[in-house]
Amino acid sequence: MTDVRQRRDPSMRPPLVPLATLIGRELHGDKSEKPTVKCGHHAFAKRGEDYFLVKPDCLRIPGNPSSSFSVFAIFDGHNGVSAAVFTKEHLLDNVMSAIPPGLGREEWLQALPQALVAGFVRTDIDFQRKGETSGTTVTLVVVDGWTVTVASVGDSRCILDTQGGVVSLLTVDHRLEENAEERERVTASGGEVGRLNLSGGQEVGPLRCWPGGLCLSRSIGDTDVGEFIVPIPHVKQVKLSRAGGRLIIASDGIWDALSSEMAAKACRGIPAELAAKLVVKEALRKSGLKDDTTCVIVDIVPPPPDPLILPLSPKKHQNKFTSLLFGRKSQNTAGKHTNKLSSVGVVEELFEEGSAILEERLGKNFPLKANSGPFRCAICQVDQTPNEGLSATVGSYFSPTSKPQEGPYLCVECRRKKDAMEGKRRSRTTVSSNDSVIFQEILLSIR
Ligand SMILES: [Zn+2]
Repeated sequence: MTDVRQRRDPSMRPPLVPLATLIGRELHGDKSEKPTVKCGHHAFAKRGEDYFLVKPDCLRIPGNPSSSFSVFAIFDGHNGVSAAVFTKEHLLDNVMSAIPPGLGREEWLQALPQALVAGFVRTDIDFQRKGETSGTTVTLVVVDGWTVTVASVGDSRCILDTQGGVVSLLTVDHRLEENAEERERVTASGGEVGRLNLSGGQEVGPLRCWPGGLCLSRSIGDTDVGEFIVPIPHVKQVKLSRAGGRLIIASDGIWDALSSEMAAKACRGIPAELAAKLVVKEALRKSGLKDDTTCVIVDIVPPPPDPLILPLSPKKHQNKFTSLLFGRKSQNTAGKHTNKLSSVGVVEELFEEGSAILEERLGKNFPLKANSGPFRCAICQVDQTPNEGLSATVGSYFSPTSKPQEGPYLCVECRRKKDAMEGKRRSRTTVSSNDSVIFQEILLSIR
């Protein structure tokens, strides 16, 4: 009773929060304006080639807790674990080092899709230098406030379950069997696509690319398969409504057993840690343990209403505040920032691009140039003297009218990688592959 009387006594009310403080909270990303991120994970290993990453407390600005963001990822390795382990250790650093320092939050989020492309390609180049033959899918999710950015190669899906039970897919499956566009690209770049031929001419299993026999069309690693298996991720960036939502990130062990709707439904209303267990359990119940099965669940939960914040007035201030909260983003001409409402209704779609053509992904307005001069390689971030590197659009493969400084600037090695991915040349001498190991791997993965 004492508490109630105290709340009713005006002299006991806590002080009102001035408008300037409220605006400041939004501008500086005060935690009270940000959703809470809760996560859970669960895995069941068969081959031990799935890895995952959960980093809920990353900082854009070192030492500044209001610049926090979270990162979650799944790496489903094949033909060994070294690519999955290497990518888990280095990918995030490579992405972050491709974002120029000193950007504000909105600029940072706009730079992220291109930095993800640079970081994925750099990690692939660095891994291939090791001369090992394994590969991995990657699905990397960056959650900053209400904005979710997903980059993926391979078939480890990320789905979004929003309030009201609308489930949407934030990734694209890079599986040759299901993706005609990728089949065309691989064939055009020098790969062959077909099923495994058993003795007697019987074709079995899903479509694969040859040499190598991989069912995926994009991955990190796979040095022995061919450069047409590219590490260039599909990237999608969405902004959730203030109702929040749940992300389910999982390896194909889940998605071969459950549809997106089934996975979302299996754990709705259950806290994240237990939800991840339930999704894995449901997949195992449906299909048994056929593959590594890993699930990471991320809940983006609205903050509790702040009793200290009163309705805003007068009206002209309110308009100002509203425009700060919901103001249009400046368009990034290099990417396809759409700002349109997507099929998920209340979720705002900010960006989506899945092209495997590098210069379409590292547009000429790549923000690196503004801060670091024209001669830093857009992929590996190594500074070049003017004569060392080449602009991605220069050379005999492109229009002779291209100007020398158009397109992202690439060092010689990254340029070589780009040409190799497009089937124009090999980036390196092929690592001699152990065919019996590959054949074993193929037999293991036939379902
Ligand atoms: Zn480079």
